[in-house]
Amino acid sequence: MPDRIEMPADWLRYLQQSAEQRAEEIVQNVLQAPDYPTLPDCPTCAVSPERIVSRMSEPTFEQDWAAVLVDFKPCGHGFTVPESELLRG
Ligand SMILES: [Zn+2]
Repeated sequence: MPDRIEMPADWLRYLQQSAEQRAEEIVQNVLQAPDYPTLPDCPTCAVSPERIVSRMSEPTFEQDWAAVLVDFKPCGHGFTVPESELLRG
């Protein structure tokens, strides 16, 4: 598995806000799939993804702190935001 790039909490909040705005826009304008607003670009390859998946990490022996893992599809770039970073903001 390739290394994930650590991102600040602000970036995660930006993704969440974008997702909410996008969902609203789709409902308000009754948009169909090909006309959906684009998702935020991947910070690594600057390509607009088809999907952004986020989940909490499972604690492991190497990393005992929790983090939010964010995966961009289909480019496959992965990012992580440590929970400590989120609590600070
Ligand atoms: Zn990418």
